[in-house]
Amino acid sequence: MTAPTGIALLGATGSIGETAQRVVARHPDRFRFVALTANGNRDGLRAAADRWAPEFVGLVEPGTAPLPTGWRAGASALVDAAQHPDAAVVLNAVVGAAGLEATLAGVRAGKRVALANKESLVVGGPLVQAAVRAPGGGAVIPVDSEHSALLQCLAGRIGGDGPGLLPVAGVRRMIVTASGGPFRTWEAARIAAATRADALNHPTWSMGRKITVDSASLANKALEVIEAHVLFGVPYDRIEVVVHPQSIVHSMVEFEDGSVIAQLGVPSMELPVLYALTYPDRLVDSGVPTFDPVAASPLTFEPVRHEAFPTLGLGIAAGRQGGAAPAVFNAANEAAVARFLAGDLGFGGIPAAIEAALARHGDLPGNDLSSLLAADAAARALVSEFR
Ligand code: NAD
Ligand code: MG
Repeated sequence: MTAPTGIALLGATGSIGETAQRVVARHPDRFRFVALTANGNRDGLRAAADRWAPEFVGLVEPGTAPLPTGWRAGASALVDAAQHPDAAVVLNAVVGAAGLEATLAGVRAGKRVALANKESLVVGGPLVQAAVRAPGGGAVIPVDSEHSALLQCLAGRIGGDGPGLLPVAGVRRMIVTASGGPFRTWEAARIAAATRADALNHPTWSMGRKITVDSASLANKALEVIEAHVLFGVPYDRIEVVVHPQSIVHSMVEFEDGSVIAQLGVPSMELPVLYALTYPDRLVDSGVPTFDPVAASPLTFEPVRHEAFPTLGLGIAAGRQGGAAPAVFNAANEAAVARFLAGDLGFGGIPAAIEAALARHGDLPGNDLSSLLAADAAARALVSEFR
């Protein structure tokens, strides 16, 4: 019997972090948490630390109360957790660009990075690609359900280490599904005036607040198109988004001969989290309810209404532009969503602020980490002043 695989879980108190704790609890002989981090949720982190007794606990924003003995504070705790010698896997479930440096650190330390933090690949795609390809570099295995689906559709065509972040032979097209979110059938003017409660009312998935708002604006799908491009090396004109309101078909790959392979299942992040830990193998698990095709019927597909969801096109255009543009798109979106959630910006202000940030800062250089972080900061500053 081999020892359980050590996991550093970044973002332990979030939606994906809690899913990961449920998954690992079912497989104590296979996995154990050696490091846990959270941002500000001290009580949630303490509960997780009491439960798992990891070697390393990091609280990024500790506030003023004294820290429990042995806990680490500050953003450097993320990078240190990602490099922890006892961790073979880094499960990055942080939200936002704040996760990028930990992703890079984990890959550079030779770890498998099970990546929920899609923003890492949007902001720093070429840097992560270079780190994976460098001698001794680790791997990135996606946790995002669509990209987990794409990886499963490509089974056998990618080595056991995970996507080499190079073009995969024989792929004609990737079809990424989108639920369409709560505003799928709304007119553009009604969407622009949507409230916070409207945007947080996702029809099929229960997730953290930022990604839930991103799913309502389709910013999330823009991030995911960029994520697919970076992970699988597929050109943007061969990645399509299709609306699939039931969230049962998690994505599809069309091959050169016209065959289309899809991955299906009930909407649950349990499987994508587990698969990112076990890839390329599968493990007997009870996390996902049995799929009943009759009960799931009918499965329907619709085109994206781009005129009602301008954020999607803005994000894909930023991805195509490259350089710092994807980082500017992401940072502007993060800042605009934070303002929307604070009641300080209307829903229609999200694409407007992103468009302004891209117009002003989209051409900034983005060839290394410091230039990307500077572009990120410039976009956030612009959005904070946006009226
Ligand atoms: P969440 O808000 O529920 O949790 C985020 C976690 O990150 C928390 O533990 C929080 O303490 C921590 N965190 C937040 N800001 C941080 C910072 N600046 N530095 C360090 N830690 C910080 O978010 P979530 O829904 O779990 O999403 C996490 C990531 O997974 C996001 O990138 C999201 O896009 C992606 N994702 C989530 C789902 C889902 O079902 N929730 C599905 C696919 C992808
Ligand atoms: Mg997704």
